[in-house]
Amino acid sequence: MPGEVTRFAPSPTGLLHLGHAYSAFDAADASGGGRFLLRIEDIDRTRCRPEFATAIEQDLAWLGLDWERPVRRQSEHLSDYQAALSKLDAMGLLYPCVLSRKELAAAFGPDSDDLTVVTDTDRILDHGVYAERLASGQPSALRLRMAQALKRTGPLTWTDDRHGVQTARPERQGDVVLARKETPTSYHLSVTVDDALQGITLVTRGMDLFASTDVHRLLQALLDLPTPRYRHHDLLVDASGTRLAKSHDSPSLRSLRDSGVTPEDVRSRLGHITR
Ligand code: GLU
Repeated sequence: MPGEVTRFAPSPTGLLHLGHAYSAFDAADASGGGRFLLRIEDIDRTRCRPEFATAIEQDLAWLGLDWERPVRRQSEHLSDYQAALSKLDAMGLLYPCVLSRKELAAAFGPDSDDLTVVTDTDRILDHGVYAERLASGQPSALRLRMAQALKRTGPLTWTDDRHGVQTARPERQGDVVLARKETPTSYHLSVTVDDALQGITLVTRGMDLFASTDVHRLLQALLDLPTPRYRHHDLLVDASGTRLAKSHDSPSLRSLRDSGVTPEDVRSRLGHITR
């Protein structure tokens, strides 16, 4: 086996913490002597900052990781996502969503509710109002017509190395947004396009993104892109069982380093966890 092509794909919205180190080691180890890539997922201009992108590379180097250059920065490749959107649009699978957050919540329930499935938002407003909003040039998101997309592809599956063959059920996520109001792409679209363009053979990432893979599999089928294998690893939790994430004030790798923790300490702290 020549090894896999894997990637670590953080968003530079803050400093890396132990959960990221775990994910990065996992991706690097999974390459098995193949190729390990770094991708900076910086499409969200409101949350991403260049200094965090710089810090990511410094922290990964401190951990002793080595990745292939050049690093792909999503913000420099918007035309690739635009090409994918045009293809989906030509198939009649996209429509503009002009509803505000408030209107969406009123029609479908609050955003935070996992069971919220947004569909056909273009049929909620009176037709004239919808047309008027579109014509006014106010920014709108682009949504995928999920039901039609699935009719086109038929049933789909994907394979996770830890969890076996999965039947994709992207309909559970409704008419997903493929281009945001403020960014001409979305997580789902850019990650799928990039994994294909970069020739990723094994996508490793946390279980928090397990359900997203159903959407990515659908996009691969629609856009004629190859389907890699996947491996979703468990998420790191602290002693109280809370997921380690920036929002929970988990220590950054930088602060651990500054307090005298070594990369070897980090590796051995993370070593006992099942990937
Ligand atoms: N950029 C995503 C994140 O920060 C990860 C994308 C992926 O691995 O598919 O969580």
